[in-house]
Formats: sequence, C-alpha cells, structure tokens
Amino acid sequence: MTARETVRQYFENHRDEIRKTIVDLTREMCAEKTVNVVSEKLPEFPFLKIRGEEYRVAKIVKRAMDEAKIPYNEYARMEGRPNIIGLLGKNANGKRLMIPGHMDVVPAGEGWDTDPYEVIEKDGFLYGRGVLDNKGPLASILAAAIVLKESGIDNELEGQLQIAALSDEEAEDPDGIDYGIGYLVDEKLVDPTISIIPDIGENMERIDIAEKGRTLVKITAIGKQAHGSTPELGINAVYMMSKLINEIEQLKFEYELHPVLGEPSLNLGEIHGGAAPNIVPGTCYIYLDIRTVPGMTKDSVLAQLQGCADRVVGGKFELNCMSWNDAHGVDPENEVVYAIQRNAEEILGFKPETFGMGGGTYAKTMNLAGILAVGWGPGDDEAYHVENEYVEIKQLVDFAELTCLLAIDLLS
Ligand SMILES: [Zn+2]
Repeated sequence: MTARETVRQYFENHRDEIRKTIVDLTREMCAEKTVNVVSEKLPEFPFLKIRGEEYRVAKIVKRAMDEAKIPYNEYARMEGRPNIIGLLGKNANGKRLMIPGHMDVVPAGEGWDTDPYEVIEKDGFLYGRGVLDNKGPLASILAAAIVLKESGIDNELEGQLQIAALSDEEAEDPDGIDYGIGYLVDEKLVDPTISIIPDIGENMERIDIAEKGRTLVKITAIGKQAHGSTPELGINAVYMMSKLINEIEQLKFEYELHPVLGEPSLNLGEIHGGAAPNIVPGTCYIYLDIRTVPGMTKDSVLAQLQGCADRVVGGKFELNCMSWNDAHGVDPENEVVYAIQRNAEEILGFKPETFGMGGGTYAKTMNLAGILAVGWGPGDDEAYHVENEYVEIKQLVDFAELTCLLAIDLLS
C-alpha cells in the first residue's frame, strides 16, 4: 500500500476519532484567553499580564506532541510568548514544508450569543473566539501530525514537515518587534523552503498567492495657534489640511496593474484637529492606510504624497511613515499550488483557484524572506474577527487529511 492509500484508509477507519481529537483540542485551546492587543490597550483586559499569553495554548500543543512522540523545538523572544515547531519526516531531500497556525486571538468584542471562550458544538459547527482564527485549523494540523506519526507515514516523508504553533499574529506594537514568524525568520531559527498558511478562510476554495503591502502614513499640518476672536493672527491648520485632503483625494498613484491584486488603494481613516471653538488650531493630523501592489516602493509613495503637500500654497506639513511592508505575489504556476489543487480535487471534489488579498498573513513575511508560501485553509472568511465566530467541523477533518496528503505529495 502506498503512503497515500495508508492515509486515505486511516481517515476512513478512524474518522470519528480524528474528529473528536480536533474538537477536543479546539475546545481546550479556545478556553485559554490568549488575547493579543497592542500594549496601549492592555489595561482594558485585566485578565492579561502580558500581550497574547500564548504559553497557555503552547502547553496544550506540547502535551499533544509529547503524547504522540513528535519531537519539537521551542523558540521564544520573551518568556510567555513561545513558538513550537513540531518536526516530522526524515529531512533527507532538503525540502521543508511548514504549516503554521497561530495561538493568539483578537478580543471577543460584543454581541455574542454564548460565552466566547466556551466552545459550543451545534449542527456540525463550532462556535467560539478562535475556532477559525486560528485554533481550529491549528487543532486540525496537530491531528494530521498525530495521524502521520501513528500510521508510520512519518518515516516515509523524505523531506521535513514542520507543524508550527506560533505567537503574535493578531497585533503589532508601534515598536514593530515581532514575537512570532517575524522573530523566527529574522533570527533564522526556522528554514522552511515552502509553506501553506491555513489562515485565510475561503472554505478551501481559493489559494492566496499575493497580498498587498500595507503602509500607514501620518501627515501633520503645522499652522499657528491664536485666539479665536483674532483668527487673522493665526494660521488655521485645519484649513491647511482641508486643502491637502483635496489633493490626496485626486491623487492617482503610479503603479502597474497586478494580475490578481489589481490596483492600490488609499483610505483616509482618521483626522484630528483643534482644541476648542475659541482657539485657532495650530496643528491638524490625518492617518492614511495605503495598500500597495508589487513594484510600488516606499520612496515613490512618499514622494507622491509629498507632491500633494507641495501643491498646497502656503502649506507646511510633516510626513511620517509609521509602518511599511512590501506587497508580494508568487507565480501561480508553482508546485505548492498544483499540489493543493490536485489533492483538493480528489478529497473535496473541486479545484481551488488562485487569488490576491488586501490584507496580510504569515505568507507575506515568508515570501519576503524568500520562502514560497501561499494561504489556503478551512473556514468561512466572513467568520473572522466577528461575534459568534464559527467553523465547520467537517472542513477541519478534511483539512487534516489534506495536510497529510500534501506532506506526502510535496516531500516524497
Ligand atoms: Zn489569523
């Protein structure tokens, strides 16, 4: 019997058991409130001592790996925020496939019908904060690792399969210090050659091969404060900013249309100015959220914004690029995409299509570091970050089987 046939048969014979493993692990991991917010918001979550507290979920992951005798490495930039990398296969042919899930979640928010941290199973679905993003998929890849180990297929994988449980996906502090994939990649602690990130939703129907870059820019108009009764003695920064906003609204970035990402976007998301009705505002600032496509550089984007500022007669502005990451796109004709399409057709009965996203996942960090990574996984993209977050259990079980088959396909 081939490794593929062994896996197919194992899932046929043990489907209920595997389903139970996934549901139990998801439930246990979701009960841990590994909420990741920026430091500034930490006081709003009195149950947190540090951001994320991913060690709570890491304990569960390590126990599951220990029980299945899966060796793992643990890396942490700070105590309490570990990354666990389970290792399978013979690592003989130099190909290393990483499939990572993240252990942190966004806050529960409001509007839940049930306790967000107590997972409910109803009509084939799980409900709770993190069941989709990303603890359900994490339970699914853990179950896959356990199956590979128990069925002995582990010994037949020529390359290395890295099943990872990572920290710090959901929030980024202004200091830009990363405790998850950014840390692992920057410090060269992990070295996958290819990766599949099950953190996009799309019900496994689409494969994320490109993601826009995200830039946050703050622009401040500098006027001169004066008494509200003598506006002629001041320079009104809000008027000045309104002229710049007109320029920005008409700005057309220079770019090349991308086959799946299309065109860049710009959102003016915040404006602040003025202290009181009887004061001429001395400053006014805005925040721009810009999503770029491949080929656009930081220098050229900032230069085009500076051009807008220069066109405001008598204007005085300060431009501040708060954060920048590049857009990325991979050639859709690659072995990972092909393997996903082939295996999905066999197990799910449809062929996932490639597409591009405005948001970013681990795939961006990896691709920018030279690792071929695509996003693909279970769940409904509309269930991300909302109340009553849900995931279909069948999809989690199917994804576990697909994880095994993809490992065989890509590493043998
Ligand atoms: Zn996520």
